[in-house]
Amino acid sequence: MNTGASHSSALNTPADCSVYIHIPFCTRKCRYCAFYSITADSRQQQDYLNAIRRELEMHAPCPSFSTVFLGGGSPSAMQRDLLYALLDWITPQAQPDAERTIEVNPRQTDAEFFDQIRRRGINRISIGAQSFNPGELTFLGRIHDVQDTVQCVDDARDAGFDNIGLDLIFAIPGSTLSDWKDSLDKAIALQPRHISAYSLTYEGNTPLVRDTAAGQITPISDELDRRMYELTIDTLAAAGFQQYEISNFARPGFECRHNLRYWKNRPYIGLGPAAAGWFRGKRTENIPDLQSYIAAIEHRQFAYESEHAPTPEEFACETAVLNLRTRTGIEPVEFQRQTGYDIAALFAAPIAEHLHLAHLEWHKKCLRLTRNALGIADTVLCDFAAI
Ligand code: SF4
Repeated sequence: MNTGASHSSALNTPADCSVYIHIPFCTRKCRYCAFYSITADSRQQQDYLNAIRRELEMHAPCPSFSTVFLGGGSPSAMQRDLLYALLDWITPQAQPDAERTIEVNPRQTDAEFFDQIRRRGINRISIGAQSFNPGELTFLGRIHDVQDTVQCVDDARDAGFDNIGLDLIFAIPGSTLSDWKDSLDKAIALQPRHISAYSLTYEGNTPLVRDTAAGQITPISDELDRRMYELTIDTLAAAGFQQYEISNFARPGFECRHNLRYWKNRPYIGLGPAAAGWFRGKRTENIPDLQSYIAAIEHRQFAYESEHAPTPEEFACETAVLNLRTRTGIEPVEFQRQTGYDIAALFAAPIAEHLHLAHLEWHKKCLRLTRNALGIADTVLCDFAAI
């Protein structure tokens, strides 16, 4: 039965909320990057900082945040005094035990940087390692090399950080299964607590997409992509990492709490150009342009490029799709509490079909993807995206 009660309560200020801050600065664009990021001078960065402060004020009243995530772009590309000022402002607005993550580019960090951000409340580091193969890093157009990543992990650990994650990319053109195994092994040897591993994506108007269209690049086959993904799951499991989402693996207790909140469809505020938000019953996306974003906020207007208040049914579908990305899957009681819907009744047809195809299974009273369906998750999830 749909009560709609949980959904309408989402229109009020939630008791528990996260904040994502998009820091859109990079020193150079990577070949594959479709995120919004630019190079910016000191004046633009100061204006950006003023704008995100004001944007958060415009959302008031806000609860104190259970997770804070600084992503980008490269937060470590921000001018340091401005980044430290940003941290001095945002971390007191988080709960004392909040997870507070920053993404960093390994070329942009050093011992002093980690010492300063730790003093300012950051307790989780996400390092954009991407690969431990020098040729692949060059192909991707990264500004860092393998030694930068090793040094970055050392510096973070020396500064007292324990919760360190590495982001990796597989299925890079020219890469072999053994290249990928080598990158995974080198990542594991650095003893991170968390590893994200994503297949290289071809999206947007990136040099990668253009070079591929021009015939200069040949993407690896779907078959090899799938074998690399399978190898990821097996290798990380053997090294003691638990897969808790399609592309995310962690030592027990080190799952990214911020991203888990996305997959549980919990509210979050997004600040900065191109940031997405889900707050007070509205899903929003900010303009992916720094100047337009700053201009709107200076006039005390939200800088939304799009905003949408999902219907209760849409909210239920979103929640199902997001929950199914996790290895826990959909917990029926929690799903009904959150959305007002009975999962078995709402999705009777796709559940029956995908149980029959062995794409879904009931595991500990939760509905989740089978191991075999992880590599084709999108084809299963699209059947839950609309009813
Ligand atoms: S560092 Fe990240 S955000 Fe910046 S250009 Fe490269 S992939 Fe894009």
